[in-house]
Amino acid sequence: MKNQDLWQSVLGEVELSISKANFITWFKNTNVISNKAGKIIIGVPNGFTKEWLENKYNKIILNAFRNILGNIKEIGYVINYKEEEKKKEKRDNKINLKQQLNLQEYKINEKTNLNPKYDFNSFVVASFNELAFAASQSVIKDLGKVYNPLFLYGGVGVGKTHLVQAVGNEIAKQKNAKSVLYTPSERFAAELISSIQEGTVERFKNKYSKYDVLIIDDIQFLAGKEKTQEIFFHIFNDLYQKNKQIIISSDRPPRAIPTLEERLCSRFEGGMIADINRPDFETRIAILKKKTLELNIELNDEILIYIASNIQKNIRELEGALNRVIVFIKLNNIIPSHPQLVKILKNIISNPQKRTTYKKIADEVANFYDIHINELINKNRKREVVKPRQIVMYLMREELKSSYPFIGSKLGGRDHTTAIYGCGKIERELEKDDNLEQELNLIKERIYNNN
Ligand code: ADP
Ligand code: MG
Repeated sequence: MKNQDLWQSVLGEVELSISKANFITWFKNTNVISNKAGKIIIGVPNGFTKEWLENKYNKIILNAFRNILGNIKEIGYVINYKEEEKKKEKRDNKINLKQQLNLQEYKINEKTNLNPKYDFNSFVVASFNELAFAASQSVIKDLGKVYNPLFLYGGVGVGKTHLVQAVGNEIAKQKNAKSVLYTPSERFAAELISSIQEGTVERFKNKYSKYDVLIIDDIQFLAGKEKTQEIFFHIFNDLYQKNKQIIISSDRPPRAIPTLEERLCSRFEGGMIADINRPDFETRIAILKKKTLELNIELNDEILIYIASNIQKNIRELEGALNRVIVFIKLNNIIPSHPQLVKILKNIISNPQKRTTYKKIADEVANFYDIHINELINKNRKREVVKPRQIVMYLMREELKSSYPFIGSKLGGRDHTTAIYGCGKIERELEKDDNLEQELNLIKERIYNNN
């Protein structure tokens, strides 16, 4: 059997005995390097994974090999640095950033008001935005017919502007292109106000009614602006009746925009409404990879994982963090070490008091260490459960701001001094053990993103 096929069969077995999240975390980018005289060598992407496979999953892996091949005696794990990667790393350390940071400058199109930098090539599609993406594609194919209006909503920095502008750019570059106008709603409102002052409201209305595609970004800013809403309603109807395409973005669904006139609201609801969520961990990694590729910069996985697991809110923040790292590299001409990375990103890795629960923390910790949740509570004092138990204590303290007596009571009626000890223990460990920090990041990632 070829090594690759062998490994696939082994993975198939391993997958059955551990949780999906752990499987993805620890078995990504692994392979069988050699299989000689009863000894198997497995290549792993980094030291962190190596340690986990050795200490935690070795038995499962060994059994899976034995089920398939029989006489396997032992398994070794090596960090799999391909020559090529080594070379890259060398290059990384002395990259010529001046050239690499030579970002392209973009000029906003005067006619359409679109920024050409927003296109679909640089747009990552994954489950968090695929509905909005698919709806946009349908609109591009069938302007004014399928979904009118197209109403996209989502939180700050999740890609609304990027997506609506990419749609606009796509339409504008087609053969016998339609006339497109992109405008943020504040600008629309401001223009309207000056046209009222100048007595040119009719001209204003005509201007907006002549486009084949009208894109209004951040429509929520029309909240409370009655006159603007009224004019917009007329323009909307005019366009709609002529089967012209209207695309709208907002930070919330129509019903949630305060003081949005009922008639506008129901117009919006008459089309297609699609939301954009937050990207999950894998997607955040994919986005970072894409951005580094565009910038022609290669960062090692550790850096990308650190950014993606600590910055979860939105893509804009993700880019912000990446830019800091790039600036550091530019200034110092070296790739930051882990402690340097922590320092660079310290004040953007905000620690908002995101709400979670004891149950969620306990579930995810138990799941991560493959133990039963009851073992966190019972009297078992084996190391395999003491550490996860202390991690639960630590996370309750950090994430929930729970009191020590409460932590103790939740974890099987333990004394508050046990809780104090447990939290302190993890704190001290964290200072000297980078792996533990990574573990905690992965756990937090699951706490906040596995719904
Ligand atoms: P919003 O309008 O929702 O606040 P933006 O469209 O301004 O968010 O996106 C914030 C940043 O993230 C922009 O620089 C944008 O290019 C980038 N971005 C957003 N969505 C994606 C995506 N799916 N793939 C790649 N980059 C994205
Ligand atoms: Mg925006």
